[in-house]
Amino acid sequence: QAKQSGKNKFHFFDPHLERIALHRVATEQKLRNAIENNELVLHYQPKVNLATGEIVGLEALLRWQAADGKLIYPDQFIPVAESTGLIHAITRWVFNAALQKLHSWADTPMANLHLSINVSAQDFADPVFLPTVISALRATPLPHGKLEFELTESTLLDNHEQANKAISQLLLYGVEVAIDDFGTGYSSFNYLQEMRIHSLKIDRSFITELHNNPRKQAIVKSIISVGKNLGLQIVAEGVETKDEHQCLKQLDCHLGQGYLFSRPVDEASLLAFLKQRQG
Ligand code: C2E
Ligand code: MG
Ligand code: MG
Ligand code: MG
Repeated sequence: QAKQSGKNKFHFFDPHLERIALHRVATEQKLRNAIENNELVLHYQPKVNLATGEIVGLEALLRWQAADGKLIYPDQFIPVAESTGLIHAITRWVFNAALQKLHSWADTPMANLHLSINVSAQDFADPVFLPTVISALRATPLPHGKLEFELTESTLLDNHEQANKAISQLLLYGVEVAIDDFGTGYSSFNYLQEMRIHSLKIDRSFITELHNNPRKQAIVKSIISVGKNLGLQIVAEGVETKDEHQCLKQLDCHLGQGYLFSRPVDEASLLAFLKQRQG
């Protein structure tokens, strides 16, 4: 009844919008439970030195292992988390998990690898985020392995000065910053010049079919050149084929990540993979 009279008055009862809103609310509630029930899990994708093949680091990628055993990928819940504020709790969980892993990996093949986590723009804008991270790092300093935060360009441009300060502070505690999906945002040279960024991750869209596309090669070559001149580490995302790998090697790109080397895998598979490569 209320709904029916509302139908004429409010746009909200557009059935399509209503379905989206309900879906969002349902996902938010389930996600809230997922955090409490410990249904979040990190998978890891190796970062490889393109010249030598050596594994030098890992990117932690979040998955939601639902109660029915189904694995849910971040594209299906991170946007909801970002629009509801739940992202703060999620990032805190990811950060704590990463810190704990770096410690528990002391005597494993993972011991000397860099570990990267993805941090959302909302986290960087949250006044509680940085103090929380720093007090955790004070209480439990990073072990030998290093931690890196992957941010997108918008994060840095949205609040320029605050981001700049945050990066300098994080560096004091051994946390480095990478620009994720580089080339898809503003790719402003301005912040590259100002901020103490450690690495640039070239977006997968530039890497796909790189060997067959001279225009992509021109762009990738330029990114590598500017990045290297600024002393940054360059990472190619989404390397899927030997041809792409070969092309990146010729362009002198430092590191690569992609299905060619390994998909993101759970901790047990990662350990097996690294042991097999060592042996
Ligand atoms: P991203 O940080 O740019 O991560 C790279 C994505 O590309 C990952 O998808 C990875 O599985 C996928 N990928 C890696 N190699 C290849 C390849 O060779 N080919 C193709 N087609 N894809 C490849 P995933 O794990 O589904 O994550 C998607 C996005 O979700 C991430 O993009 C990141 O923006 C976000 N995300 C993941 N984990 C977290 C997290 O813990 N926190 C936050 N805030 N965002 C996260
Ligand atoms: Mg990333
Ligand atoms: Mg990326
Ligand atoms: Mg991304």
